[in-house]
Amino acid sequence: MKHTITHSPFPIISFNLVLIGGGHSHAIALELWGSNPLPGVRLVLITDTPHAPYSGMLPGYVAGFYTFDECHIHLPNLAKFAGAELILDRAIGLDLENNRVLCAKSPPIPFDLLSIDIGSTPQASHIPGAEYTIPAKPVPQFLDRWHELLETARQNPDRSLSLGIVGGGAGGVELALNIQSHLHRLVPPQNLALHLFHRGGELMEGHAAPVRLRLQRILVERGVRIHLGETVNGISPVEAAGVRVACESGLTVTCDRAFWVTQASAPPWVSECGLSTDDRGFIAVGETLQSLSHPRIFATGDIATMVAHPRPKAGVFAVRQGKPLVKNLQAAVLGKPLQRYIPQKNLLALIGTGDGKAIASRGNWGFGPTGWLWCGKDRIDRAFMARFDHAKITPETPEPDRGSPNS
Ligand SMILES: Cc1cc2nc3c(=O)[nH]c(=O)nc-3n(C[C@H](O)[C@H](O)[C@H](O)COP(=O)(O)OP(=O)(O)OC[C@H]3O[C@@H](n4cnc5c(N)ncnc54)[C@H](O)[C@@H]3O)c2cc1C
Repeated sequence: MKHTITHSPFPIISFNLVLIGGGHSHAIALELWGSNPLPGVRLVLITDTPHAPYSGMLPGYVAGFYTFDECHIHLPNLAKFAGAELILDRAIGLDLENNRVLCAKSPPIPFDLLSIDIGSTPQASHIPGAEYTIPAKPVPQFLDRWHELLETARQNPDRSLSLGIVGGGAGGVELALNIQSHLHRLVPPQNLALHLFHRGGELMEGHAAPVRLRLQRILVERGVRIHLGETVNGISPVEAAGVRVACESGLTVTCDRAFWVTQASAPPWVSECGLSTDDRGFIAVGETLQSLSHPRIFATGDIATMVAHPRPKAGVFAVRQGKPLVKNLQAAVLGKPLQRYIPQKNLLALIGTGDGKAIASRGNWGFGPTGWLWCGKDRIDRAFMARFDHAKITPETPEPDRGSPNS
């Protein structure tokens, strides 16, 4: 590697460290890098959005409990704090022979070391008509559609509204509860129907039985119609605006909108460029967070699978990887040995129920819902976001359409 460290006030830039995606690990990495930068490194962040959503507060934003700014990290300011160059563009491939990132608009970007934290999107490509649904990710597009729906509901409170949510994992269940919580403040409960479709026989596989049962009970008590054992195999538009959700069993339900919150998937370019992946197309990494096939490339968060320690695709794991990632990136720049990182097996998940309460879930244990668990979750999430206070939105920054909380 051609790195030269200099302590002169005019460092010779000789090393290109490129980060793709402003996900949770990269946000932490940028924050830590900014407090302890390495001279002589040209740090570049390629991101397709200037506002990185914090997953822990996103369901609460949907419920109307948080403002847009409270649950988004402003990447241009964070990059500035870290001394990183920001490229607002979408990576669409890697040229691994020449160590370059290929972007949608910009010329190829060379790297000596690369880190990828681009998250995942719900798997939909194989379902005919999936384009008529609203995927939960990418988040900016999801929020655009959500704001539109809120506006429609606000303007037509007397019109009945029927919504489908496809996917009964933690994301789908949390979304159902929080969507309902917000819409109940805009339209009378009798005018709102929510359908939750799930392929499995039980919601939220992977969580403890008490947690699953409590959440299922809450959904039923709130009138959400749960369709278990139903595999959605087609979506079609219907004439009077809306979609028909069709299941393998023959069940069809017509909804005004359908949200898509199924299993996480990776963009095809990740495997097509030659990186070694797991059987679902996620980048295979070892305990140092380096690609198993290309050690100059690191990957974290949803897009990576630690092959020796696979974990669910959840923001909490991406957050925890931020610190070991930045340590290893700096060690790799300096040619020092890298540290092993082993993720915790059972992390505490706090699941908001959309009514100012939360349920705790860890391994085989579950508790709640209670108001004090929500207060604890709120405190933890706000403390996380406070780490990025120096990267808050400034008046000269163009503002996106934020919707409004508690409307
Ligand atoms: C509805 C829903 C609710 C959820 N709730 C929770 C929760 O409460 N707690 C929890 O822990 N997890 C939750 N999750 C899961 C969580 O969202 C993800 O696990 C987490 O966001 C992964 O973090 P990440 O750092 O891997 O990527 P992300 O947070 O997804 O960030 C990736 C970033 O990279 C950008 N990007 C993507 N592709 C490119 C590209 N090609 N070029 C440049 N930039 C790119 C994206 O715009 C994004 O800003 C939820 C998921 C869903 C769908």
